[in-house]
Parts: sequence; structure tokens; C-alpha cells
Amino acid sequence: MPEPETPPGRVYLVGAGPGDPRLLTARALELIAAADVILYDRLIPASALDGARADAELRFVGKEGRGPSVPQEQTEALILAHARAGRTVVRLKGGDPFVFGRGGEEALALQAAGIAFEVVPGVTAGIAAAAYAGIPVTHRGAASAVALVTGHEDPDKPETAIDWAALAAFPGTLVFYMGVGHLDEIAAALIGSGRAGSEPAAVVENGTLPGQRTVCATLETIAETARESDIRPPSITVVGSVAALAGELSWLPPRPLSGRTVAVTRARAQASELARRLEGHGALVVQAPVIRVQVLPGPPLDPAPYDLICLTSANGVQALFERLGAAGRDARSLAGARVAAIGPGTARALAERGVIADVVPDRFVGEALGEALAGVPISRALIARASEARDVLPDALRARGAAVDVLALYETVAEPLSERELQMARNADYITFTSSSTVRFFLDAVAAASGEGDGSTDGSGGGGGHAPWSSGSRIVSIGPVTSEALHERGLRVDVEAERHDVEGVVDALLADAASNASEPAVP
Ligand code: SAH
Repeated sequence: MPEPETPPGRVYLVGAGPGDPRLLTARALELIAAADVILYDRLIPASALDGARADAELRFVGKEGRGPSVPQEQTEALILAHARAGRTVVRLKGGDPFVFGRGGEEALALQAAGIAFEVVPGVTAGIAAAAYAGIPVTHRGAASAVALVTGHEDPDKPETAIDWAALAAFPGTLVFYMGVGHLDEIAAALIGSGRAGSEPAAVVENGTLPGQRTVCATLETIAETARESDIRPPSITVVGSVAALAGELSWLPPRPLSGRTVAVTRARAQASELARRLEGHGALVVQAPVIRVQVLPGPPLDPAPYDLICLTSANGVQALFERLGAAGRDARSLAGARVAAIGPGTARALAERGVIADVVPDRFVGEALGEALAGVPISRALIARASEARDVLPDALRARGAAVDVLALYETVAEPLSERELQMARNADYITFTSSSTVRFFLDAVAAASGEGDGSTDGSGGGGGHAPWSSGSRIVSIGPVTSEALHERGLRVDVEAERHDVEGVVDALLADAASNASEPAVP
């Protein structure tokens, strides 16, 4: 018997803007929040998917750096398959879907398949990156037209689709997308076809993003200048007299961490808050998650026997509620106990589940939590935590005569990093460590990459003769326990947070950057 037919879902071809998440349109945000399936590209704002439904299917269909991309036919087949299954599909692309976004091809495929679609324009990089660099692409008296051009093609190819003579003669601004790898050839082709070599030109890298950089030169010298500054994709190139306005109209205020790279080593699932705050201050964040949290299986939990429950991390909170939920329990089952949290992040995770912590110490370490509980009568305590953790808190409670059960809810395991991620992290201006396990696993990854086996046990300073990071990197630790893990290996800590949480790490880093203000980057 044939299956009953589901009416096809609607497909939205949505532009996500050039990178700054605040340049997502209201319509894009609304559709992201409603979608059953989101098929997205690489150059979308990092936080664009934050508002997606928890049960939505999020699928990356873009290209990783210079690596392989999902073939276009496969992407189109996916869109059609999801739509035919009745799902609401958002196809999310950087910038505008119809500007070098292959949105036209996808729209034609949908049309041919008889599936209804909607196009949501986005702010396109060629105009937005220029604007963020102070370049108006049209300007009264200077440029009355603008051409958006692909720089992807090698102009030396005989079958090039670009008419260079026509482009050189174009009476206005030229904006090249995807062209930083071909700047020499592009400039030569334009000059060879009659465009003046003395015409202003600018390249904007990571436009609208925290790491935005602009270099200005002339058409003749722009390729060399971009090379000297190590300009990389994504970048747009503007050719025309308006490019000279970049110097004059540069309006983006330099932010305290502009031009600085900061490596975040904590688990990907937890990194976003730290990364977002750092980016908000202008840092270019290098994600190098060396650990992953793995929840340990175990029997359902009955909290009834306990009069105190201590949580030492947001992960612990999540895992605790999973164990409670396994027996059909929820926050109400904690009503009979006092609940203590080691710090504000843990308290926040509890609050999200409807539990307000009774005790949160001023300093966010086991010792302080033990002290904060000094006046609290305890007969039986549960400490819910990671499998590997210090015994300061259980020891302190036992010393007071309490019965203490330590429940290992999760463990941290190594997350493999790509060679490139590790290399970028090792060269970062700042490397942040937010737990002793991030220290251990980072040094293990470095040792493995240098072919020195397990660097975690030799105690010789994190890997034989090789320094684990570049000599210019400054090392940031969240607090004394993490610092100790670095010191034990003979490694220096440059910055230790006073508050042992994400906010504290950011504050400490900002203070350090202010006192070590070296080259202020051009926004
Ligand atoms: N549909 C997109 C363009 C996709 S092609 C749009 O409308 O913006 C990818 C190219 O866009 C990159 O190679 C680069 O040239 C440009 N680009 C995308 N994001 C950029 C950014 N944040 N800064 C500078 N150029 C960017």
C-alpha cells in the first residue's frame, strides 16, 4: 500500500549576513527559531544557530577551509528530501543567498520539484565589510555604480567568464569576492586592460567580525601589501577611489582585544560563553577544545536520604538531573535537602532547572565551599561531580562527622584536535585554561603532535625539549588549582583570574591586555 502523502514543507533560502550576528535580519531569526531542519554554510555568524529549536536538525553542508565541500547536488537533494518529508527547511548561507551563494540554483531546483520556497535576503559581505571599514561603495561625485565580481576565477584561465576589458572600463567601484588568493592576477588583468595602477584599493578581512582588518594600497601594490599583512579569506577587495576613504571614515572603535588571538581550550559545549565574551571585546577566538564531557551511566538517583547536595560544575548539574529524570524525578525531589553550588556558573545551571542554590561561596574552589558550609548542620551529604576531582570537599565534610557519598556523574576525556587547531592555539596571543584537565589534555596533545608520546606523566615541563606554545603566548589560568597544574609541569602562568569563573577570566585578560598594550590593531 502506498504511504499516505505528507504535504511538502516550505523551504527558506536565508541570508545570515556577513558575520556580525547583529546583522542577521529579523526574518532570518524568526525562521531559524521555527525550522525543523537547518542546512548551513561555514560563513554564517557563530551564534546564528543559538536560537534554533533544541529538536531541530542542524546540518553543516559547507566547505571546510580548503577541504572538500558537500557537493551542490547533494545539498539540493537534501533540501528536497527534507521538504518532501513535510519539514520546514532553512537553507542558511553567509551574506545574501543570491550573491555568490548559489541560491539561484537551489531556487530553480525547488521550482522544478514544485516545492514552495521563500527567499530572505541578507546583508552581503561586499557592501557590509566595506561599510565596516569606512568605505561607501557608491559616493556622490566619486562612484555612481558598483559591480560585485567573483575573484574566484584565475584570470589567466583561457576560458575565464570575466570580461576583464569591460571590468577595467567599468565606471565605478569594483568589489571582488573570494579573490584574496588571486590578487596578483586580478590586479595585473585590470591594469593590463587599462585600469590605472594608481587607483586606490583596499582589502577587508573578516569584515564585521571581531578580527576585522583592513589594508589599503593602490591597485598596483595591493597584492603585495595584503601578502605582507598575511591577509586571508574571508576577505573582499574594493577597487576604486572610494577605497581611499577607509582611512578617513574608519569608524569602528578599536576594542580592547582587537587584533589579539585567544585560544579557548575548554570543552566545545561549554566554550561558547567565554568565546562570545572575548569576541565581544574584539578578540579573535581560536577554538581548541581539548576535552569533552562524557556522562557516566549509572542507576537512577534517589536524593531523599541526603540533607545536603553539593554541585561543583554546570556539567554536574546536568548529569544530576539526568539521573533524577531516569527515575521520573524532577527538581521537587531536592526539596528536602540544602543545595550548595561551587560558583555562579553552577548556580545558574541549577536556577535554569528551577533550583536556587542555598549556598554559593565567595571564592569558587572546594576549600571555600567547605568553609561556606561551616555553620550548616549536615548528617548525610551527596557530592555530585566528575570522576576525577580533588577530595578537599568530601574530606572537609567527613572531618565534621557527616556521612558523605561521592557520586561520579561524568568524566572528561580527550577530544582530538586537528593539527591546524592545535597549531593556531599554540601560536595564540593568549591561551586560556579553565580547569586542570584542560592543562593536562592540552599538553598531551602537544606532546603527541611533537611525537613525544604521553606528555602527561613525564612531569618535565609539558613535553621534552619543545615549548608547548610560542614564546610570545601569555598563559591565562582560571584559578589556583589550574595554575598549580601548570606550575607542576614547570610552566609559567602569566595571568590568574581573581574570580574563578568565565567573567573572571575575561576581566583578568582585559586587565593584562591593557597593561601590555603593544601594537593596537587597525579595525
Ligand atoms: N553570499 C555571500 C558571499 C559568499 S562567497 C554574501 O553575500 O556575502 C564567499 C566570499 O564572500 C568570501 O570569499 C569573501 O570574499 C566574502 N565574504 C564573506 N564573508 C566575509 C567577511 N566577513 N568579510 C569579508 N569577506 C567576506
